[in-house]
Amino acid sequence: MPELPEVDFCGRRLANWTAGSRVIDVEVFDARSVRATRTDRPTNGLVEGEARLREVVLNAPPSPPERHGKRLLWRFGDRALLLHLGMTGRWTRLIAPHAKVRFHLENGTCITFTDPRLLGGIVPTDLDDGPRLLREGLGPDALRDPLPSLPGKRPIKVALMDQAVVAGLGNLHAAEALWRARIDPRAPAGEVVGDRHARLATAIRAQLDLARTLLDGDEEIVYVEDAGAPNPFPLYQRAGHPCPECQTGIERMMQAGRSTYWCPGCQRA
Ligand SMILES: [Zn+2]
Repeated sequence: MPELPEVDFCGRRLANWTAGSRVIDVEVFDARSVRATRTDRPTNGLVEGEARLREVVLNAPPSPPERHGKRLLWRFGDRALLLHLGMTGRWTRLIAPHAKVRFHLENGTCITFTDPRLLGGIVPTDLDDGPRLLREGLGPDALRDPLPSLPGKRPIKVALMDQAVVAGLGNLHAAEALWRARIDPRAPAGEVVGDRHARLATAIRAQLDLARTLLDGDEEIVYVEDAGAPNPFPLYQRAGHPCPECQTGIERMMQAGRSTYWCPGCQRA
């Protein structure tokens, strides 16, 4: 599932693929992916979505997308697209199943948005609304901005996944960062202060940097859940395996409906 590093990679590849070129044609295969707002409900497809999409992308050559959290704002002159990938969205140069929207570029490349579960989407907008939509409802960016204080009694893992608190972390990277910081995922968020908060901030940065490094290059993105995908992460889906730091068995528990992988040996407080 795309989190900040995967969205960041998506933005960098869109920039590379379209550099020096422009969109000359648009195909919409599933109008539900073109949205009036950034809602993840497919029923909110935009009326006249294809026409609005054309108005944006045929308007001017694209600029490199700007990212905040897990959203991208892709400018075409004075107009823009807000992109979100949801759980299964991806942009690809391959002819892939579940194609929703395809852009044909002047340089001969085709880029396609695929999204089997339809929780991602494309929102045509402009430079008046776009920058606001990019950040609306989101906390500071998990990679670029300082980690804010994390108030409340809910578990720290759950707080880190709340995009209104800090934007960009999801289930996998939140859990791996807590392991790096040696913090119990069940610890009340409001008690992660001082040295623990500083450790967590460093760990989040290190985790996201590692994930971005792993995604470097110009290949098609592979999500860790994809069949046959490599899993380079020490905890994710490794319940029962020894922790690489302390050899204690890694455990899995449910928090807010999601699996948390953690090490009871390393993450004691
Ligand atoms: Zn351990």
